[in-house]
Amino acid sequence: MKIKRENETLKAALTCKICMIEKVMCTFLLCGHFCTCLSYGEQVSHCPLCRMIKTGF
Ligand SMILES: [Zn+2]
Ligand SMILES: [Zn+2]
Repeated sequence: MKIKRENETLKAALTCKICMIEKVMCTFLLCGHFCTCLSYGEQVSHCPLCRMIKTGF
């Protein structure tokens, strides 16, 4: 079903790209990627998607 597949894609897009468990809660301001949960967003020094270095925080 088309709708079901879209929902699964959306769910995957909203799962943290580091721990793959938590929901995405943190946006990298420099690149605009929305890809980590809150706890990992504070720990990582660069975006896991494009590796842009996070600075100023
Ligand atoms: Zn996470
Ligand atoms: Zn990025």
